[in-house]
Order: sequence, then C-alpha cells, then structure tokens
Amino acid sequence: MRSNDVDVLIAGGGLAAQRTAETLRRLGYDGRVRLLCDEPYAPYNRPPLSKTVLTGEPGPETPLLRPARWYADHEVELLLAARAALWDPTARRVCLYDGACLRYGRLVIATGSHPRRLPVLPLGDKVLELRTIDDARKLRDALSCDIERLAIVGAGLVGMEVASSATALGVAVTLIEAAPTPLSRALPPALGSWLAALHTRAGVEVLLGRCVETVREKGGRTELKLSDGQRIAADLVLVAAGSIPATEWLADTALGCTGALDVDAGGRTAVPHVYAAGDAACFPDPSTGCHIPTPHWEAAAQQGAAVARAIVGAPSEAAQPPMFWSDQHGVRIQFVGHAEQADRIDIEGAIDAPDFTAWLMRGEEPIGALLAGRPRALPDARCRIAAARTSNELPVTA
Ligand SMILES: Cc1cc2nc3c(=O)[nH]c(=O)nc-3n(C[C@H](O)[C@H](O)[C@H](O)COP(=O)(O)OP(=O)(O)OC[C@H]3O[C@@H](n4cnc5c(N)ncnc54)[C@H](O)[C@@H]3O)c2cc1C
Repeated sequence: MRSNDVDVLIAGGGLAAQRTAETLRRLGYDGRVRLLCDEPYAPYNRPPLSKTVLTGEPGPETPLLRPARWYADHEVELLLAARAALWDPTARRVCLYDGACLRYGRLVIATGSHPRRLPVLPLGDKVLELRTIDDARKLRDALSCDIERLAIVGAGLVGMEVASSATALGVAVTLIEAAPTPLSRALPPALGSWLAALHTRAGVEVLLGRCVETVREKGGRTELKLSDGQRIAADLVLVAAGSIPATEWLADTALGCTGALDVDAGGRTAVPHVYAAGDAACFPDPSTGCHIPTPHWEAAAQQGAAVARAIVGAPSEAAQPPMFWSDQHGVRIQFVGHAEQADRIDIEGAIDAPDFTAWLMRGEEPIGALLAGRPRALPDARCRIAAARTSNELPVTA
C-alpha cells in the first residue's frame, strides 16, 4: 500500500475511535490503522469536562484515554488537527480540508456529535457551549472571573452537570428548560421532577417549560427574555441544548444522512466496508431491535469494540441494555434500560437521602432503573433488566 493507504481508517478521534483501534490490536489485527481527528489532541475522555475539569479537582490537564505513547507502541497512526471533509465510496477514500486524500480498506465513522446551536443565542465571549476540552477550559476560565450568575439553556445531562459544578464554585445558576421536566426524552416526568428538585434544593433556580425568545446586552450583562415574559440577567450563558451527530460531511453521499447512521450489531452501515460507532451511529437496541440513538459513554466504548470484532470476524458480544451515568450535587445517578413503555415506577430505598432505585416496570418485569446514590447496585439492576428482557423474548419456533 502507498503511504496514504491504510487498512482501517477511523474518522474521528474520541472514545469510539480509540476503542475500535485498541480492540483491533487486542484481537491481534496487524493491518495498518490510522485515526483521523479534527482536534489537536489524542483521544480523551469527555465526562470530566462538565465535572472535575470545571471544579478544578486534581487530575490531568487533558484527560487522555491512553497515554500519548500508547499509539506508537501499538502502531496506531494518529493524524491530529485533520478534519474529514469528503468521502468518495467508489475510490474508497476520504479527503481532508487541505485536499490530502487517504485510501482505506475499511472506513470507521466515529466522528461523535456537535452541540446543538440555537439561532436566538449566537456564541460569543459570554455565550459558550461545551463539547471539547478547549470549550471546557474556556468555560472554567469564565467561571473563575468573578461572575455572579450563569444561565444554562437546556437541562440535559451536560446542562445539569455544569449547573452542579458552577454551584460548587459558588456561582448562582439559572437553569432554563423548554420541556416540562429535565431529561424528558430519557426519563418519565416523575423522575425528571426528582432531578429538578435535587437542583432546586442545591440552590439552582430551575425554570421549566420556558424557551429563550430574545437576547440583548444590558449593563454589561446578557439579558434573556423567556417565553413567559420573565427576564434573566446573566454574566455568562451556556447553551446546552443537546447534541447532533457529526455526520454533516456525509450528507451528499451514498449514506445520505444528516443524523446518526443506522448500523447493524457489528456497526456495519448500508455501504460495504464502512462501519460507524459512538454518537455518530445508531445501533439496534438489544430488546426492541429498533434503532435508538444512545449518545453516552458506555455505548460509544462498546460500539467501538463491536466494530473491531466485526472487522476481524470475531463473534459479537451479548449486547447490554443501554446505560448512562451522571454526577450532580454529589449524587451519582445511573440509568439503565428504557423508560418508555413502563406502566409504573416502584421505588426501593429513601428518595430524600438520596439512596434509591426507581424501577421502571412493565407489568411485573423491570425494563429500566434509575439509581441515585447507589453505584454498587448497578450490576444487579443490569442483570434484572437483562433477565426480564430475555424472558420476554418470543421463541423463534413454537
Ligand atoms: C461535557 C460532556 C460530559 C459527558 N458526560 C457523560 C457522562 O457523565 N456519562 C455518560 O454516559 N456520557 C457522558 N457524555 C457523553 C460521552 O462522552 C459521549 O457519548 C462519547 O464521548 C461519544 O464518543 P464518540 O467517540 O462517539 O464521540 P466524541 O467523543 O465526540 O469524539 C468524536 C471525535 O471526532 C472528531 N470529529 C468530528 N468530526 C470530525 C471529522 N469530520 N473529521 C475528523 N474528526 C472529527 C471530534 O472532534 C471528536 O474529537 C458526556 C459528553 C460531554 C460532551
């Protein structure tokens, strides 16, 4: 192969990309692997960006997933500050913005996601977003600049975690959410309301069911006018309105998509030799078979490994029910399984402590669980949900 030709080209340099490369090597794959990332850093972990990186707890300046030398040791070529711009499936090549083109045997799309932007709130010195380590450093510096109030637009995981971190730093926070409860796509209203109450008790002003309608500068501050007429004056605004898969560079291609790419359980797209994993991909859910986006850490890690196994022809591992975790106001929150289709919630433990499991039940079977302050209960919750799922599966033949 010529020097720009590789056996496996991984577009994207986050968790899914790193896990694909690592699993390939662990499985003994000895082909040429190149990882192509638009950020100037080796793959790093994003969860600390909204937590310890902001609060300044001891830790590495960039939370790398593997030390920089790991890539050389495992003969994984890192091409940093290089953005995939064009994909030519016929020639099996990906071209960068600078015009250089790389040919591949297999292509893995692991470009993650971008923060969703709001036309009403253009970014600037006082209106920030959070996805990268550079974003986190900018936000950390801004939070340390003697500011009185931070307004966060969006009560998803990132918005709520930043609300928690900023509160710990002594900054007053207003959290604004258009939906009636936080995390409304993942959690039923009763559990979303519990989260809202956790923030309110910690001193966060939580404003639900309201959107930002207009924005203006007033007296050196940013004033947000909300849909109910209320005005919030903030020194700093964080737009945390969710994320969109970073697949825009594939929009006019055979994959023809501007969202997450539907793949099979091995991460194969509809185009031969092309795979996807992580936030840019949509794997079939193990219990329903439906393609449901899971833009969370564990899914990205598992999917990156699943793609590597598919590439080398190794058997796939049993798919787990989806899971995410979050740390807010000193409480470890974990969610496993599904919330939709639950017909009731059974609480086990003490809600106020908080130290409880909220079981999402369909009939007598748990289909999901939210754990608050119970990190060690996760394996058991997973097992119960996976077992219920198995017992609900219909036999293929009678
Ligand atoms: C602040 C923050 C906190 C989080 N906390 C949690 C948590 O507590 N728990 C949890 O379960 N999940 C959490 N997540 C989600 C989790 O980190 C993501 O689901 C995971 O990082 C997805 O991995 P990925 O590899 O798909 O994408 P990413 O980690 O986004 O990596 C994709 C990489 O590809 C690069 N890229 C994009 N486009 C291109 C291109 N065209 N060419 C080349 N490179 C490109 C990007 O710059 C990026 O470096 C958090 C996310 C954020 C942002």
